[in-house]
Formats: sequence, C-alpha cells, structure tokens
Amino acid sequence: MSDVRSGSTLLENILSNAPNTISVGELHHLDSHLYKGRWGKTWNWNCSCGKSITDCEFWKKVLHNLEKKNIKIEDTSIKHFRKNYDKTEKNKIIQHNSKTIKLINHIYTAIFKETNTNVIIDSSKHTDHGIMLYKNSDYKVKIIYLKRDIRAVVFSKARWAKKFSQKEKSNYNILRRSKIYDMNLKRKIKSIPEKDVISIRYEELANYPQLIINKIANKFGLEYFEVPEYMDFTNNHTIGGTPNRFVKSKIAYDNKWVKQSKRKPLFHIIGKLSDII
Ligand SMILES: [Zn+2]
Repeated sequence: MSDVRSGSTLLENILSNAPNTISVGELHHLDSHLYKGRWGKTWNWNCSCGKSITDCEFWKKVLHNLEKKNIKIEDTSIKHFRKNYDKTEKNKIIQHNSKTIKLINHIYTAIFKETNTNVIIDSSKHTDHGIMLYKNSDYKVKIIYLKRDIRAVVFSKARWAKKFSQKEKSNYNILRRSKIYDMNLKRKIKSIPEKDVISIRYEELANYPQLIINKIANKFGLEYFEVPEYMDFTNNHTIGGTPNRFVKSKIAYDNKWVKQSKRKPLFHIIGKLSDII
C-alpha cells in the first residue's frame, strides 16, 4: 500500500523476479483495462507485454478460466466511505465492496490455477482495498507499506496533473492532501498484525534494492533472489502503474525532484518537516 507516485512500479517489478511469483500490477484496474475505462488510456489499456488484455496470453487464460465458472469481471475497485454518506448509501457501498473482494478472490484463484505459482504480487495500492482484502481474502495476504519522501510525491503528482491537463493545484495543496492520505494509511494499517506488514522507504529500495528485497523475503518467507540491474516489464503481464514501465531502465534512485524542491526553500523545509512527523 502506498500513495500514488511512490515507486510501487519499481517494487512490483523487482518482486516479479522472485521464484514462484507472478506480478499482475494494479489488479483493481482490471475492469478499466478490459472495458477501456478511466485507467490505462495512456497506454491504450494494454498489458505490459504490449498486447491488449483480451489478446495477451496470460490474461486470456485467466479470463477464460473465470468464464468457465460463469464469473464476470465487473467493477474491481473498492468504493471509499465518506463522512456524509447516509445509511442506505453506506449499505450499498458495503455490498459493493464485499462483492468486489469476492471477485478478486476468484481472480486470484484463476491466476494461481493458470500459472502454477504460489505468490501473487498485487500492486493495487489503495488503503481500504488492502485492509479489506487482508481481512476477507481466502488467501494469506501480506502488506508492504511503501513510503517515499512526500516532496518527491508532490512534484511527481504536480507534473502528472500538468501532463494530463488536470486542474492545477498549488504544491502546498498537493502536500496537504498527500499528508492526509499518508496519515490515514498509517492509522488504518495499525489494524493489521505486525507480522503481516512491512514498511519500506522508496529511497532505500532504489539505493539498496538487494538489501530491502532480502528484508521483505525474510519477513514474508519468499525465496531469495538476485535483484536485476534493470527494470524490465516485457516478460510480465501487469496492468496499471506508470507509462514508464514500457521502457527498460536501470534501477536507480530518482532524485530529479531535489533540485526543483530546493528552488522553493520554504516548501523544501515545510515538506521535509511534513515528511518526518
Ligand atoms: Zn500480457
């Protein structure tokens, strides 16, 4: 679990090299990739192998498996509660979410069946999604909480908003929202037993990938493996993530934001304080 723009694509890609493991990307965007919805348009809703979900060898098998059991892919995203929801609306959301978790369980079962692996790396990163899955999945769920310097997250979010011509927000506005998101995540993650959660920093992962991966493998009982030098998705079948995943790139710490942040000294300091408290 993490905020967006926190390096989950890097983590997911490294973990996909673990033996007996399959990485599927952000599974909660499967419906959008299948029906050409809001998520995935930038890469034409394709799987990371370059083919559409219905043409990709991996997803074709999974979808066929589900079809045989008469299970239809509908909305795969968890709906979030808001304070002002009334009772009827709340009940509707609870029903929707429990249906979604059941559907995700079916998808996991199909993936295990079709791939002969025993670990699925699912990068769906929203807090409520992770918590509900942990509490209601038919499978053992382990959570990785990935945290990145909040200033890097802010600049990355601002760049994306600009790129996709969303309404521009000030850096402070993005900072405030990101901080609320992270505080919420940290609060909710406390409901999960410590043995099933690991917290890692993006900066440490990018600088010392082998060390951090060994730590994860050790805690969750994954087989040890050597971290590759490059991020490469061409052999994977993942959905969601960033458009960068279509480019093979060296695993390295992305510090481009530091210069940008230092040009705004006040933001640089407030961001730093906000990152550590
Ligand atoms: Zn594929």
